This record gives sequence, C-alpha cells and structure tokens, in this order.
Amino acid sequence: MTKVAIIGTGVSAFGAANSLAKEKLDVTLYDKNSFYAGHTVSLKYQEGFTFDIGPHVSFTSDERIQSMLADAVDGDFDTHDYKFNNYWKGAWLGHPAQTNLYGLPTDVIVKVIADFVEQGTRQVDIRNYEDWLLVAYGRTFAEQFPGQYTYKYHTTPARNLTTDWMGPRMYRPKLEEMLYGALSAETPNVHYIQNFRYPRSGGFGRYLDKWARASHLELNHHVERIDARARTLTFRSGSTASYDALISSVPLPEVVKLIAGVPADVTAAAARLACSACVLVNIGVARDDFANTHIDYFYDLDIVFPRTSYPHMMARSNAPAGCGSIQVEVYFSPKYRPFAGKPEDYIEPVLRDLIRCGVIEEHDKILLKHAVYIPYANIIFDHDRADALSIVRGYLDDIGIDTCGRYGEWGYYWTDDSIKSGERAAEKAVSRLSR
Ligand SMILES: Cc1cc2nc3c(=O)[nH]c(=O)nc-3n(C[C@H](O)[C@H](O)[C@H](O)COP(=O)(O)OP(=O)(O)OC[C@H]3O[C@@H](n4cnc5c(N)ncnc54)[C@H](O)[C@@H]3O)c2cc1C
Repeated sequence: MTKVAIIGTGVSAFGAANSLAKEKLDVTLYDKNSFYAGHTVSLKYQEGFTFDIGPHVSFTSDERIQSMLADAVDGDFDTHDYKFNNYWKGAWLGHPAQTNLYGLPTDVIVKVIADFVEQGTRQVDIRNYEDWLLVAYGRTFAEQFPGQYTYKYHTTPARNLTTDWMGPRMYRPKLEEMLYGALSAETPNVHYIQNFRYPRSGGFGRYLDKWARASHLELNHHVERIDARARTLTFRSGSTASYDALISSVPLPEVVKLIAGVPADVTAAAARLACSACVLVNIGVARDDFANTHIDYFYDLDIVFPRTSYPHMMARSNAPAGCGSIQVEVYFSPKYRPFAGKPEDYIEPVLRDLIRCGVIEEHDKILLKHAVYIPYANIIFDHDRADALSIVRGYLDDIGIDTCGRYGEWGYYWTDDSIKSGERAAEKAVSRLSR
C-alpha cells in the first residue's frame, strides 16, 4: 500500500491522519516523545492536579470542528463563559482593560482618555504594531498596557512586530465605551471570545485519545534525518522507514536541520524565524477560592509573568476537591530574550509575585510547584517572518514535504486552525500521490 508518513502526533498531525483515513493509504504518525498530543498533552501529577501546556481551551466558532471535538470526548465537555481580569500597579480591572478603566487612579484615567481623544485628531502611517496601538488607544494606554504586555509576552517591543497576526484580538473602543468603563464597574462583554468548551475530565489532551486509538502511532521515534530523494526517515535509534508522501508538523527551524544538503539561503531564512519559548510554573494550592476568572493578564514590567491561568476553573477535575491550581507563563525567545538557567529558577520569583499581586497569600499551603520549559510557544510576527517563511516553505514544497500546524506553517494557530492545517496538508499529499 502507498505509505504516508506524518511526523508529529499533535492536533495538526491528527487533522491530517483523520482526513487520510477515508483514503486507501498506509498512514503512520511518528513522534519523538513517549506520549502523543504534542502541545495539547495534559500533564497529570501524582498530587492529583492536571495541567495543560499553557491554558488550552476550545473556543472555535467552526461548527464542523466543534462537533468533531464533541464526538472525540463523546459529548463529555462543559461550556464556560470565558472570564479574564487585568492587573496594573495594584489595580484589578475587568477585560478588556481599554473598556474597563474603572479602578485605576483618577489621574491615570484622565490621561488615558485625554490621549485617546487627542490621538483621534492625528494622522499616523501604520508601519508596525506600535503605530497601530498608538492610533487605536492613544499614547498612555498603548504604552502602559498592550505595549508592556507585548514586550513581556512576545519578548520584543511592539515596533518590532507587524500587524498581520491581529485579526479580532485587539478591541478598538469608541470614546463612549471607554468613558462608560471608566465610570462603571459593570460593562458589556466585548471580548472576541465569549465562551469555550473543555472536557469534564482528563484535561484538554483528552480530545486526542479517541483519535490516537484509531491511528497507527510510532512513539519514541525521533526523526533525525529526512532523505527527500530516497523518501526515507532515519530515527535516533538508527532504524529507518520509507514513505511515498511526507507530512511534517515539526517546527520549521528544526525540520530544515533534518534534511541533508539544504541550500544556504534556506538555512539562513530558517534562522530568521522567531518563536517564543515559555517556562510554565504549575502550582497546586490547598484552597480553590482565589480565582474568579480563567485567565489574568499582568502588565507591570517588574512582575515576572504576563499571564496566569487557573486550570481548576476550566474543569473541577483538574485539581483535588477543595484545591485550586495556577499556571504561570514566563516568556523567552532565542532571538530576542534567550533563556538561561533552569526552569525551576522561576518558581520562587513567580510565587513571590503571585503573593505581591494578591493572587495567593503568604500563608497559603502549596501542594505542588513544578516548572517545565516549552521550547516552542508563540510565533513572533516580526518583520523577518513573511520573507523567511516563504523561502523555507517554498523549498520544502519543492522537495515534496508538506508542512502543517502552528509550527509547520509558522502561524498564530489555535487548535482548530492547526487541525485544518493538517487537513490541507493531507489534501496536498493526496494530490501529490496522484500526479
Ligand atoms: C501557551 C499556549 C497556549 C495555547 N492556548 C490555546 C488555546 O487556549 N486554545 C487553542 O485552541 N489553542 C491554543 N494554543 C495553540 C495550540 O497549542 C496549537 O495550535 C496546537 O497544539 C499545535 O499543534 P501542532 O500539531 O501544530 O503542533 P505540536 O502539538 O507541537 O505537534 C508537533 C509534534 O511533532 C513532534 N516532533 C517534533 N520534532 C520531531 C522529530 N524530530 N521527530 C519526531 N517527532 C517530532 C513533537 O513531539 C510534537 O508531538 C496554545 C499554544 C500555546 C503555546
């Protein structure tokens, strides 16, 4: 039978595999890890806590993907209203902060609104994300909120980013909305995501269990070499596998290193692709009443993290009865803020800042504290990305490798986008095979 090799067992790889299942093909998914699911794996600790790799919830509006995921857990999911808070210099604000200024000191509110009004009278050429923020919010808000957040989360100042990743992510308020949110603690929900689905048990990773059972997986198969001419994969163990079509969800800078004889311009382009890395600090607490949201954002530069999330709020089963959990993200990137040291070095600074912000208290009993390093987190849309990406993907396409997923297409992909990306790669592989 014609063989299709898929490298990876994340959602994009299953998107490809599920779509190929209707063809008469011999499809195998190879993964370097001893477990499947890639970035959607759920970590289960013996203390009884479950943590995903960063807050993972399904907020897709695509009804086909919604029912695909519902079927994957036999309908055993809950739908939650998505709740967020913002923290800025001791003040807790609703979300998004630009329409929820209530709670900030009066002089800050006055400055934010005065700048916003003044900005409306100016003409600005938008060359980068910093310009966009200035035009949308005025200088004070742009600098103090999304400007600082961008630096913490994307590891580089907003002027180094483009605007082509934004979509509906950043809400542009009218003056009336800003004024209303400055005067009232209750505001309409204008967030682009209103609710999400999450499995009742097993963490987000449970969405993949059924798909994994229906597929041919080869775990502990670390691809170390791709011979695109001979159409073979060589694994770390020394064993090999042949293929007729290849789909890869491996991060682009990594996949290029697996191929012998890559032209110098492609290697150079791959080195220009920027992605953040993340230290996740997973904390289990002996009480569960410290959070009323799913995610909180932190703007101050002297707080080590930009974002916290609360897995016990996504599913009660993510923590033992009466206990709560906090996942904290701290960002790095090889290009802009290289990671040094050990993930555990961040546990104490994170706990210190959680106490400073009042998320937990000094006397709280911590039942679990564990840090994990995630080498690939969010694609950084800097000014190199588009050009470097077209060189790398153009080359891979020429040698017959179809890439998919967040790190295979190098996009700001949520799980639904990654699934669809896998489906597109499968379609492409089938059309290659029929040529
Ligand atoms: C912090 C964070 C929060 C997120 N939150 C959400 C959210 O709330 N909702 C949402 O929908 N999406 C969210 N996402 C996005 C989501 O994680 C991705 O869209 C999706 O998981 C990407 O899947 P993938 O298959 O493309 O990649 P991956 O899951 O990374 O799969 C790639 C696979 O390739 C394997 N691999 C790599 N190299 C080799 C090799 N040499 N040999 C063999 N195997 C190899 C890896 O082990 C891995 O299993 C979030 C992402 C992050 C980082």
